[in-house]
Amino acid sequence: MAGTVEIHGLTKRFGDRTVLENLDLSIEPGEFVALLGRSGSGKSTLLRVLAGLDSEIDGEAVVRGTVSVAFQQPRLLPWRKVWRNVVLGLGKQSDDRRLALRALEEVRLVDHADDWPRTLSGGEAQRLSLARALVREPDLLLLDEPFGALDALTRIAMQRLVEDLWQRHRPSVLLVTHDVDEALLLADRVLVLDEGRIVSVHALGHPRPRRLADHMDVRTKVLADLGVTEDALA
Ligand code: ADP
Ligand code: MG
Repeated sequence: MAGTVEIHGLTKRFGDRTVLENLDLSIEPGEFVALLGRSGSGKSTLLRVLAGLDSEIDGEAVVRGTVSVAFQQPRLLPWRKVWRNVVLGLGKQSDDRRLALRALEEVRLVDHADDWPRTLSGGEAQRLSLARALVREPDLLLLDEPFGALDALTRIAMQRLVEDLWQRHRPSVLLVTHDVDEALLLADRVLVLDEGRIVSVHALGHPRPRRLADHMDVRTKVLADLGVTEDALA
């Protein structure tokens, strides 16, 4: 089966600084992959390459199909109503509003369709960002720390929503997060990036919805890959 993502020997340099080094990665259709790594390890750079935002690379990075991205900051246009923000990336289409309402329905935001973005809470703004990503019906959904700025409870609700949307639409997902537990709850596969290389890959086989208690062994390993020891957690 052809992967949604096929990366071979990807190297990315900024000047004489190598940020991604000879990276190989494929993501299957419908697979949910989480990418962990310290700040500055190259996670966002990888996502930008896959999003087509940076094409100055060595090696090969192929994405098959449509790509959508949601960032930590929702990047809304404050002078456009909520529903118009959803269809911003689509270009002019006659059934814009219908598509927007359908996507807003899915993220339970349809009641806010005609509100201004500034009236939304942080969690609502992030749900709008998800609706905007979904409306393109992506084959690949790229999420760059999408819940990083949210409080703990909102974050949990968002994780459930993403899982639910993924189950329904089945895009391939590459989720960048610094939250190990989030990765263990959501992903089929967890990758750890360090200094531009994938230093470990952990497959997670447990059925969903997941319980963290089932993953304590992997959790310890992933934390060790990130340089966090049990002593540091005690
Ligand atoms: P992460 O998302 O894992 O925190 P990034 O991919 O944003 O890391 O950045 C990886 C490294 O690449 C960092 O050292 C960062 O300073 C550098 N970097 C990112 N974008 C640029 C750029 N446009 N120009 C120069 N250096 C960059
Ligand atoms: Mg980043």
